Amino acid sequence: MAATLREGRTDYRLRRRALLADVREGRRSRDDVCDAHPDLVRAGRHIGSAVADACPICEGDALTQVSYVFEGKNARSRSGRAVPRESLARQAERHGDLTVYTVEVCTGCHWHHLVESFRLLARGTAVG
Ligand SMILES: [Zn+2]
Repeated sequence: MAATLREGRTDYRLRRRALLADVREGRRSRDDVCDAHPDLVRAGRHIGSAVADACPICEGDALTQVSYVFEGKNARSRSGRAVPRESLARQAERHGDLTVYTVEVCTGCHWHHLVESFRLLARGTAVG
């Protein structure tokens, strides 16, 4: 396993829960939240990691998580690349420190939401 270190994790679960409550209670329409970009749906289908939980909107089993990596310090100013989760350590070794955004997407109904973001440092001691 490559020597990488995660730091600065931000969890978007609360925001996700609030959005789902809005849908359940009719403040947001389902169409409004099931508008994943075709590229994201495609990435979910081809390189996404399957999620054990059912989709919170359609309750189907097509929920996946896609990892987007951004190189360099000014992560938000560049466009990210979708990569398989298994390749994250290798990406960090090859390109240096990365900012990773994990996005969940349902390839059935096109629900999508940010799950977490963190920095992946190429140096440091190996972590599990
Ligand atoms: Zn769905």
